[in-house]
Amino acid sequence: MKKALFPGSFDPITLGHYDIIQRGVHLFDEVIVAIGINAEKKYMFSLEQRKQFIEEAFKDEPKVRVVTYKGLTVDFCKEIGVDFILRGLRNPADFEFEKAIAHTNRDLAPVETVFLLTAASTSYISSSIVRDVIRNHGDYTKLVPKSVKVR
Ligand code: ADP
Repeated sequence: MKKALFPGSFDPITLGHYDIIQRGVHLFDEVIVAIGINAEKKYMFSLEQRKQFIEEAFKDEPKVRVVTYKGLTVDFCKEIGVDFILRGLRNPADFEFEKAIAHTNRDLAPVETVFLLTAASTSYISSSIVRDVIRNHGDYTKLVPKSVKVR
């Protein structure tokens, strides 16, 4: 069974993440969306909220599972028996950043990183832009799945 881990902060999940996960489902038997826990980072949404937004968005897709993890992504891959890491690429900055991480991960463990190029329609979306729109009371609903709700 081919499983891929899609790691990230998902603060919150955006339509860009959604597109990568949906396309990952066609390539892998299971896509495990893994929310990394970083004690030093300040998040807008709690871990529970971030997890719930993703679970709700994929409630009709049995091939998607949402988990949380601490520590190195490759260690978590080994722990749960996953051979592939899935990442999205939006632009050259993403490429440079992701390249360094993927090379480092390959030095650390025999895990292959698979990159999917973002859909043109969602290539400009980032969680940080969504958070900015939310903070300034803008209409964030066009940028995220319907499950993302701000109280
Ligand atoms: P991180 O904290 O690791 O940057 P993110 O939640 O921001 O986590 O992103 C997780 C993954 O989703 C990364 O591979 C990132 O490049 C990808 N991603 C984020 N936004 C988009 C988008 N609009 N289109 C495609 N991929 C995206």
